[in-house]
Amino acid sequence: MIHIYDELCSYCGACIAVCPENIITLMDLHLVIDQPKCIDCAKCIKGCPVGALAMERNEKIYYPEYEGRGLF
Ligand code: SF4
Ligand code: SF4
Repeated sequence: MIHIYDELCSYCGACIAVCPENIITLMDLHLVIDQPKCIDCAKCIKGCPVGALAMERNEKIYYPEYEGRGLF
């Protein structure tokens, strides 16, 4: 699933545009992800210009800088 850092999000919409499942929406200035439908493709993480998204697996959070180390 995707972890959202609300305090970093600038509501630019970049992640919404790149999500192939169209499961990211903005509601009342809060990013909402329909997590059960997420396919863990990480496109939203790579597309976020401010690092407000991260991959969460087994209650551990993997930051974007871990990309390339086998987590994606
Ligand atoms: S990981 Fe992929 S499917 Fe899941 S919210 Fe991000 S872009 Fe959408
Ligand atoms: S791309 Fe990042 S900053 Fe933009 S809406 Fe998504 S989470 Fe927020």
